[in-house]
Amino acid sequence: ETVKPSNFLRQIIEHDLEKGTYATRRWAGTPGDAAHHAQGEPDPAKIRTRFPPEPNGYLHVGHAKSICINFGLARDYGGVCHLRFDDTNPEKEDTEYVNSIIDAVKWLGFDWTQIGQAPGSAAPYQASDYFGFMYRAAEYLIEAGHAYVDEQTAEQMRVNRGDFSKPGVDSPFRSRTPAENLRIFREMKDGQHEDGSMVLRAKIDMASPNINMRDPAIYRIRRATHHNTGDTWCIYPMYTYAHPIEDALEQITHSLCTLEFEDQRPFYDWLLERLTEGGLLASPPPRQYEFARLNLTYVITSKRKLAQLVYDHKVSGWDDPRMPTIVGLRRRGYTPAAIQTFAERIGVTKSDSWIDYSTLEGCLREDLELKAHRGMAVLNPVKLVLTNWDDVMGAGHLEPCSLPALPHPPEGVESPVRHFTIGKEVWIEREDFEEVPPKGYKRLFPGNKVRLKGGYVIECTGCTKDANGVITEVLATVVPDTKSGTPGADSVKVKAAITWVGVADGVNAEVRMYDRLFLDAHPDAGGKDFIESLNPNSLKVVTAIVEPSLANAKPDDKFQFERHGYFVADRVDHKTEKPVFNLAVGLKDSWGK
Ligand code: ATP
Ligand code: MG
Ligand code: MG
Repeated sequence: ETVKPSNFLRQIIEHDLEKGTYATRRWAGTPGDAAHHAQGEPDPAKIRTRFPPEPNGYLHVGHAKSICINFGLARDYGGVCHLRFDDTNPEKEDTEYVNSIIDAVKWLGFDWTQIGQAPGSAAPYQASDYFGFMYRAAEYLIEAGHAYVDEQTAEQMRVNRGDFSKPGVDSPFRSRTPAENLRIFREMKDGQHEDGSMVLRAKIDMASPNINMRDPAIYRIRRATHHNTGDTWCIYPMYTYAHPIEDALEQITHSLCTLEFEDQRPFYDWLLERLTEGGLLASPPPRQYEFARLNLTYVITSKRKLAQLVYDHKVSGWDDPRMPTIVGLRRRGYTPAAIQTFAERIGVTKSDSWIDYSTLEGCLREDLELKAHRGMAVLNPVKLVLTNWDDVMGAGHLEPCSLPALPHPPEGVESPVRHFTIGKEVWIEREDFEEVPPKGYKRLFPGNKVRLKGGYVIECTGCTKDANGVITEVLATVVPDTKSGTPGADSVKVKAAITWVGVADGVNAEVRMYDRLFLDAHPDAGGKDFIESLNPNSLKVVTAIVEPSLANAKPDDKFQFERHGYFVADRVDHKTEKPVFNLAVGLKDSWGK
């Protein structure tokens, strides 16, 4: 086996490009023919992939993997990728989902195309636009003896289909003549038969070891209004029949899907071979290749189960920052770059495995490390009073301070500067003071000196408490002439610098501290009830005090709150008058340990 598991798709594509497999694709019929027209103008793009979501829910991180693979391969090999709504099921689809999918793909940084159109100008494809062709193709299959109308009940059909241990049993309707089948199929289309009373089946092999090849149903009767075609049709193609045709009509070269479709591949090939033979489709037809779906620890990637979390109000909506949906990840502070890096890092394999959630978090940290502006925020505040401030600095004096927003700006770029002030009172983290310091503690305790980061060296003198013994204020004195960035800054050596925010210019902010949504690494494995492993502490809301540069954030701006982690100004709720930040991801190393 010379094919590296991490890039077996690339190997296949490179092989096809070298051989020119699709450069010689020949069209059925002559220009102007219905069949020819259905396939659009021949366009021998080097490779043509597609991302084909069913618009029945919001996309999640698993779909993001598929998007990155399909669009990424097309980009890397000078080809194109289609966005196609697989909307052949009339009941479940909704334009809310259509719009959210369009937004998600664009946000991830990808652009789709249509045959003969430049990226950026094209509408997505809709599988329902091919209903007419799919119907004609079904009539062709009937005429050629490859399909028949079956009037068995669903239960009879299920029983006669057999299972792995035994071959299936032919339907009594299997030997109908093409003429009879054609007549009844047209009656089905014309609404002369009840929903569920009969189906059109492909005539393949009732003894096949692959159950999917035992005469699968390809058309059913269903009186339902379709969001695109309205009431034009009362028969609808089955997904397994529709999908290969969609690929072929769009001149797809490599149809990439997840492993659960592996058993469908023989039917995919069977169908496209029949229709190519019949002169309905160009040759060679597209080929299907399967890769492993993304399984992420602590995460659920089933639209149905994610919907349950939304409808049962376990989360605030599809875009709750704890949701693995693309809208949720975005609101959490994830960036397209982080998600693309993640997709590359996990690679493409042929076997299912679990990816650790920390891999995703690491990709975000890496992206924000260099880009996110720094700022100080106090999440669990206690007031620190500099008792000698008025005497040595002047009563009510506020001293301007500044720090770079980016510790590692790109080459040749100067970091933007954050401005804030220090005065007699500042907010510090409650955990930065200990009346009786544990061994090795370097922060504030009576008699110890620390630096207020970007400000002065201070010496702790004690604290005040309320009747219950709760500390109400930490007391200290400022050491004059030790301001950061001045010649005296190094005159006093200290072992720690702590973060703080001035009482005078600090701004209250709501900070949403998110943790993983599930306590169990495999919340829905082995038939478990995933609701039971919901983490009751996945959200804690605190009122923090942030420095002025953070209060000026615009929605979606990302920051590193020094020592605490990466935060994003909430896309929905953040307002200048009422700042709201979400914890995106913590820092790699916990601070102060
Ligand atoms: P779900 O199971 O969550 O409902 P789906 O597979 O039914 O998802 P589709 O809209 O049909 O959703 O998926 C569009 C594409 O995304 C398909 O090609 C599918 O294989 C792919 N996809 C879905 N889930 C994952 C996943 N976890 N990892 C990788 N690709 C995925
Ligand atoms: Mg699906
Ligand atoms: Mg599914």
